[in-house]
Amino acid sequence: MILSGAELSKKIKSETAEEVQRLKAEGITPALRCVVSGDDRATDVYLNSIKKNCEKLGIDFAKVTTEGKKIIEDVKSLNDDPNVSGIMIMHPVPKEVDELTVLETLSPLKDVEGRTPQNLGKVLLGVKSFTPCTAQAVMELLEYYEIDLKGANVTIVGRSTTVGKPLSLMMLSKHATVTVCHSKTRDLKEKTRNADVLIAAVGKAKMFDADWVKEGAVVVDVGINVVDGKVVGDVDFDSVSQKASVSKVPGGVGSVTSAILMRNVVEAAKINAKK
Ligand code: NAP
Repeated sequence: MILSGAELSKKIKSETAEEVQRLKAEGITPALRCVVSGDDRATDVYLNSIKKNCEKLGIDFAKVTTEGKKIIEDVKSLNDDPNVSGIMIMHPVPKEVDELTVLETLSPLKDVEGRTPQNLGKVLLGVKSFTPCTAQAVMELLEYYEIDLKGANVTIVGRSTTVGKPLSLMMLSKHATVTVCHSKTRDLKEKTRNADVLIAAVGKAKMFDADWVKEGAVVVDVGINVVDGKVVGDVDFDSVSQKASVSKVPGGVGSVTSAILMRNVVEAAKINAKK
């Protein structure tokens, strides 16, 4: 089976577009602001795709350019602006401030990427919150394909704060038995071969071929790597799809992630309208 994110992403986006229209009829326009410091080609490409998604769904989008310590004041004024629903802080933040200080400044109610200590803490507690969009996308993709996680051996390769760590907690709350691996893990292949569900979130093109995967497993490829101008995942799709179910790159987790981000902006618009 191929786990495609296309159908799920389309469903989330169409529900979100309907919700935007409903809110607009009540006089509320969901609005996303992306705080950017410095020039970075990769950030620009990412921002353009977010902007296009916002435009398609009727969400107001703007880039807020900042520099140095001013980022703190800019984030505070976006927090206080009743016309702003969601805020994204683009990486990296200016070198004069540390990222945690910026994230501690961001209102958790506008934190549509689920990056603030408050929202990450709620993931730990299993309380509803804005969750990191990519980790959430993996969970919803598995749910969409009715993959039962209860008692399953789940191996996650990658322990970043945006993907691997929150995902491990979300998997635990679905009663999976979770193994989290990273660059210092010994006998990595033994751990991936034991997995009923393998999540690859490493950032190494086609690192996992069929030899790393158990027959009949479900493999979710989070990786986005550019090789010779082409986007490829962390999983060697042609090899792994011979013996396991696997998600596509592009068109898998990434497409669901961007849809979830849009849904979160609309959710934030509702939450902030009630304040
Ligand atoms: P990251 O912060 O660079 O983390 C990479 C993780 O992989 C780290 O935990 C690292 O271990 C581990 N790792 C690196 N090399 C390894 C190896 N040879 N064996 C085992 N583990 C290894 O990356 P990230 O932000 O989590 O992103 C991971 C991938 O997902 C990237 O390709 C990124 O582009 C992609 N991504 C996709 C989406 C999406 O929407 N689809 C969103 C975010 C990220 P250490 O902790 O020991 O260094």
